[in-house]
Amino acid sequence: MTGRFAPSPTGDLHLGNLRTALLAWLWARTGGGRFLVRMEDLDRGRVREQFYDRQLRDLAAIGLDWDGPVVRQSERTELYEDAIARLDTYPCWCTRAEIREAASAPHGELPEGAYPGTCRDLSSAEQAERAAGGRPAALRLRVEGVPGVDDFVLRRGDGAFAYNLAVVVDDADQGVNHVVRGHDLEDSTPRQLLLMRLLGLPEPEYHHVPLILGPDGKRLAKRHGAVTLEERPEAPDDVRTMLARTLGLSGRTPDELLREFDPSTLPTADCRLSADRRFDRAAS
Ligand code: GLU
Repeated sequence: MTGRFAPSPTGDLHLGNLRTALLAWLWARTGGGRFLVRMEDLDRGRVREQFYDRQLRDLAAIGLDWDGPVVRQSERTELYEDAIARLDTYPCWCTRAEIREAASAPHGELPEGAYPGTCRDLSSAEQAERAAGGRPAALRLRVEGVPGVDDFVLRRGDGAFAYNLAVVVDDADQGVNHVVRGHDLEDSTPRQLLLMRLLGLPEPEYHHVPLILGPDGKRLAKRHGAVTLEERPEAPDDVRTMLARTLGLSGRTPDELLREFDPSTLPTADCRLSADRRFDRAAS
C-alpha cells in the first residue's frame, strides 16, 4: 500500500490537516505500506516559501515520517502538460461573473454553478476573435455524458494547472493507491475518477474522512484561533494524543497508536473544537 498526505504550502497546517495526516500515516504504516508527502503548490499566488518547511516540521513534530523526497507539484509541470495533450480540451475565455450569470439559468442535469458550455462549440473564427481580446484562455475538459460532471478547468487562464488534473497525474505517477483525505474534497472525486478513466490510470482506494469543525460548526480555519501546532498551549506529543482521541484511539506514542489502529472502528462524524479551544465529541 502507498498512502500520502498532500498539503498546500499556503499557511501553517491546522489541527484538521494534522489529524488527516495522522490518519493517513496510521493507515499506510499499519499495513507496512509507504507514506509520501507531496506539496501541492501550483497556486503560486497563495504559496509562501516558508510554509514548505514549517509544514514538514509540524508533521515530524507529531511523530510522522515519510518515504523518499517530498515532491513539489510546481516542479512537475511537464507531466501535467503531457496529460493535457492526451485529453479532449477547449479554450474558454469566460470570466467568473459570466459563468455565474449563465449558470443561474437552468440547464438539465448539471449541478448548480456548473459550467454551462459557453465556449464549448465556438468556431475557429470566434475563438480567434476572443483570443485577440488579449485575455488568456483557460483550458476545459470536454465531458460527454457523465452525469453531474461539467466541463471543468484543467489549466487556468493564468497558466496554473488545476488541482484535479495534478492530483490524478501525481497519485498515479507516484504509485499512490490509498488516498485518505477530508470529506470536504469528496465532491472532486467524480472529476478525478473521470480523468483517470480517460488517461488510463489506475484508481486508488479512497477514504474521505470526517473533519474538525470550529466552535461555529464551520470547517476549521485560522480565524478560529489556537488551531496550529505553534498556537497550541500543549506540547506536540500531547496534540497528537488529543488528535488520536478524536479518532477513538487512546495510545500515547506513535507505536502504541499503530498497534491499536483499526480502520473499521473510526468515527464517522466530524468533531468540533469547543469555544475554549478544546475538543468536544459533539457530532454534526
Ligand atoms: N492539496 C489538497 C488540500 O490541501 C489535498 C489534495 C488531496 O488530498 O487530494 O486540500
